Amino acid sequence: MMYLYNTATHHKDEFKPLCQEQVTMYCCGPTVYNYAHIGNLRTYIFEDLLSRTIRLQYPLKHVMNVTDVGHLVSDADDGEDKMELATQREGKSAWEIAKFYEAKFWQDYDALHCTRPTVISRATEHIKEMISLVKTLEEKGYTYRTSDGIYYDTSKFSRYDALVGHAHISGLQGGARVEMSDEKRNPTDFALWKFSPKDKKRQMEWDSPWGVGFPGWHIECSAMAMKYLGHTLDIHCGGIDHVTIHHTNEIAQSEAATGEKYVNYWVHGEFLILRSGKMSKSGGTFVTLDVLKEKGYEPLAYRYLCLGAHYRTQLEFSYESMDSAAKSLKNLRVLCRQVRQAAKETASETENSRAWKDKFTAAMQDDLNAPKALALTWEAVRSAELNPSEKLDFLQFADSILALDLFALPQPEQPLPEAVQKLLEERARARAAKDWKKSDELRDAIAQAGYLVKDTPQGQQTEKK
Ligand code: AMP
Ligand code: ZN
Repeated sequence: MMYLYNTATHHKDEFKPLCQEQVTMYCCGPTVYNYAHIGNLRTYIFEDLLSRTIRLQYPLKHVMNVTDVGHLVSDADDGEDKMELATQREGKSAWEIAKFYEAKFWQDYDALHCTRPTVISRATEHIKEMISLVKTLEEKGYTYRTSDGIYYDTSKFSRYDALVGHAHISGLQGGARVEMSDEKRNPTDFALWKFSPKDKKRQMEWDSPWGVGFPGWHIECSAMAMKYLGHTLDIHCGGIDHVTIHHTNEIAQSEAATGEKYVNYWVHGEFLILRSGKMSKSGGTFVTLDVLKEKGYEPLAYRYLCLGAHYRTQLEFSYESMDSAAKSLKNLRVLCRQVRQAAKETASETENSRAWKDKFTAAMQDDLNAPKALALTWEAVRSAELNPSEKLDFLQFADSILALDLFALPQPEQPLPEAVQKLLEERARARAAKDWKKSDELRDAIAQAGYLVKDTPQGQQTEKK
């Protein structure tokens, strides 16, 4: 039996799929106007744990969108489209930008051993479905027109507060008055279709019954989720930031259009944060997987770090915790390889190993308790209760969920990143010129890049911090 914390009920609910033959799950995917940061990637790792755990019991249809149009800078439906803004930043077309960052996204996704979705749906390839959903909402009287688009009238949908509660919505109603555009009827109303600006040619725009323009971000997910998964989905996932606006709006659009329940289980992952605050793409303060790789960490060390915290708790990122995750993964692999050698590569399933696998499964099925599953893996590998072949059986099973490459050989020592190499050369020159101030400044810069430098009679020696 699997239990999942459902944002809609505020409970850990027993998971009962609509149909035993196929569980349906929709996950909000990346907005491809920039690199994914490791906070975004934390969310995909949690969704992967969910997908792997569901697949222990049921076949799964997993749909993920790629937002390549329509996600505006401000959640209040103002400001520029993030894609169009990126064209100004990078001097490329919006289509080139989407293609580039999407390809990069899948590289990171694969490197973290996240299982690819069954269906990947790009927003720009589903404009027809979005227009048709807006038309249905129009026919049912949920929309109105302003000078810049077609809007959803949230006051017409009585269950608008279903996900976040009445207090929150009335807070928004009260608080947002100042920023609200004159033409919106309610502060919580949102754009279904935006018109292209009159004074500027957009790169991404389409004809519609209401005028040339582009879809709102929320309608994208409703249209694509229902196209591939039907009117009612078993599970819808995303990061916690999506609860108040994006998912609340998805419910309003979908349920108003179909008259049926949209999602049975809403599952949200907490944020990865920095000590200095939020990690956000728009704020510019973000760490990517490439940055971690440049500093010598393998992507799976980051996956290990994420598995050590429950998906519903905030995780504060630091390089100290990355170091300790990398070290733990290395040590766990040493033990796993020793087990495999002792078992002469032969795993045997016995009542004993089954009991351990059951404990592991129970932890994962208890609202994805990955920290407990990881702790059980450490316990099993050292346990006297299991012989080596039983351990190997357990570990192979555990790794089918943890996906940490538990039997991988140690990574060869990484060569020094080019940037650090350059700093070291510069520092050697500064020291030769007896410029101690510069030498110290460069030592700090090298430390910032993750390396300690020692001066020895043989010259500078580095060590990873
Ligand atoms: P985006 O590409 O910005 O649309 O976000 C992709 C996914 O990452 C969404 O599910 C977001 O909720 C999630 N997300 C955004 N920021 C963070 C963060 N700091 N930590 C964890 N997940 C995040
Ligand atoms: Zn979405």
